[in-house]
Amino acid sequence: MIQTTPPKTYKIKPMSPEMEQKVLKSYAESLELTERELRCPSCSFYIQTLFSDVSGHLKVKCPNCKVITTYNLSYFRRQKRYHAGRYPGSHNTIR
Ligand SMILES: [Zn+2]
Repeated sequence: MIQTTPPKTYKIKPMSPEMEQKVLKSYAESLELTERELRCPSCSFYIQTLFSDVSGHLKVKCPNCKVITTYNLSYFRRQKRYHAGRYPGSHNTIR
């Protein structure tokens, strides 16, 4: 698990073994997935990272502009412009 900011140790409680197993299993499963950023539609501030298997609706308050927005995550996927092998100049061109 990559922790970019140091945890506030005074707020940490001991984790139960079951919870620790869930956390470790979740991390191991995420290694196969790709990540994308969810940004605020109002101010483009980074809100959170989403994995490629995420779906459904999410209600989030932007930490920058404080606007609360409900997202249908299927609308906030990056659209591919070209299919693999059809991109002009691609080395994967189908012959
Ligand atoms: Zn915002």
